[in-house]
Amino acid sequence: MMKNTIMEIAKEFCWEMGHRLPFHEGGCRNVHGHSYRMRVVVTGQLDENGMVIDYFDIRAIVDPIVEQVDHAFLCDESDSEMLAFLEAHNMKRVVVSFPSTAENIAGWMLRQVVERLKEYQNLETIAVRLHETDRTYAEAKVEVGG
Ligand SMILES: [Zn+2]
Repeated sequence: MMKNTIMEIAKEFCWEMGHRLPFHEGGCRNVHGHSYRMRVVVTGQLDENGMVIDYFDIRAIVDPIVEQVDHAFLCDESDSEMLAFLEAHNMKRVVVSFPSTAENIAGWMLRQVVERLKEYQNLETIAVRLHETDRTYAEAKVEVGG
């Protein structure tokens, strides 16, 4: 292979999750949910087996993150009304320290994925593209290793 070839691989994950944006003046302030779709994109040098990273490894790393949020309500810790309701009715919830915008969720997912991919020395960039709908996404990307 040519020396400067950049190899990129990706795997997609899906889950259902509720949220709301209390500050929003439009529809997003209401309790609602999305079928979230996340593409994890990794670039890097090929290992001795001709892989950037085994798709199986990506799945093993990302599936537990997705299971944590699937069919949960992602609740900003400052949204005390919603948090009280979720606690009172013992509903699945994940409490975070940020408003649950697509941008913030993408950044949060990226941090979790990067933390779990630390041992893969051949990786160069890791990105998370988070779709709230088919037509909208936020992407967070970081350079790693090297
Ligand atoms: Zn929404």
